[in-house]
Amino acid sequence: RGTMTVGEVAKLFHKDASELIKKLLMMGVMATINQELDLDTIQLISAEFGIEVELKLPVEEDPFEMDEVVEDPENLMERPPVVTIMGHVDHGKTTLLDAIRHTNVTAGEAGGITQHIGAYQVESNGKKITFLDTPGHEAFTTMRARGSKVTDITILVVAADDGVMPQTVEAINHAKAANVPIIVAVNKIDKPEANPDKIRQELTEYALIPEEWGGETIFVNVSAKSRTNLDELLEMILLVAEVQELKANPNTTAKGTVIEAELDKGKGPVARILVQDGTLRIGDPFVAGVFFGRVRAMVNDKGRRLKEAGPSTPVEITGLHEVPQAGDRLIAFDDERKAREIADKRTITLRESELNSSSRVTLDDLYKHI
Ligand code: GDP
Ligand code: MG
Repeated sequence: RGTMTVGEVAKLFHKDASELIKKLLMMGVMATINQELDLDTIQLISAEFGIEVELKLPVEEDPFEMDEVVEDPENLMERPPVVTIMGHVDHGKTTLLDAIRHTNVTAGEAGGITQHIGAYQVESNGKKITFLDTPGHEAFTTMRARGSKVTDITILVVAADDGVMPQTVEAINHAKAANVPIIVAVNKIDKPEANPDKIRQELTEYALIPEEWGGETIFVNVSAKSRTNLDELLEMILLVAEVQELKANPNTTAKGTVIEAELDKGKGPVARILVQDGTLRIGDPFVAGVFFGRVRAMVNDKGRRLKEAGPSTPVEITGLHEVPQAGDRLIAFDDERKAREIADKRTITLRESELNSSSRVTLDDLYKHI
């Protein structure tokens, strides 16, 4: 799942592995020459060496890029934040995600059956929050490798009875590389041996200084297990979202990102997507990755059929003939011919770029390893 080893990156950068290991150590990452580094760490380390690495798909003049229009601010409306949860193994990410979802389902949607669609939405004080429930690291690496940005806020889970661990540091690096604000959830405070202040202390070394200590990072003590302070955590998410002024135009054709996709025996190809801009409707022709499709059915995280889905809404859709990849962009069109044309063009461009795989030193080389 890693991308390249320390040794391989050193070679790529024409550096000594020992130099790389030293820099990594300064960033708080203990590494050996055979250790695999993720994309974000490689990007950070390259910046340390003053080497510029390109983060983009090996597709020149991606027609999707040309569709980016600068929105008239008048068309923009507030949209829910999209949140990922990251942290070291066993620090309570899954439990926290489940606790937030469950608390909310029982409170809001009586009888709503939660479906796994790669993401879910909850409500706090009448405002929605979207959580990606794909493992944070994966979401970050796959999505960013394919040029998509899906996360607005990262919740960094650190167990109060443990401490800052390697994957905690990795998560911090991911979030920093992507320029995504971090809220620290100090978890397991129900445990007698919990020491939340020790976690705060340790994280100061990574420039995460608690607000109450004069810094800028929001820390919330929680217990995913006893569901303590989850409301406060949701409030803090909304607070950070407000500062970010997250906006989108709901009155345009949809743009989004594929979070997961698979071939379902009964339904055919299904894609779980996050609509990021515009509104996706039943019958809309679209391109996902390089594939043409037309929205046949849409289901939300509560198993409810939808006719339309606006910004920051996660939905499962059918209507594709092929299975796109996680991280692929999805763009809807008014006109089916245009959608088909673009899908064809993208297929050809992708094939060509695969054939021309050059020896340029860019992060393109790394994608093959993901
Ligand atoms: P993940 O690997 O980060 O997804 O961690 P999990 O959610 O699987 O949790 C790892 C273990 O910690 C499980 O046994 C959980 O029951 C336990 N756990 C998670 N949150 C809490 C908590 O707030 N308090 C206590 N006491 N245990 C917790
Ligand atoms: Mg887990």
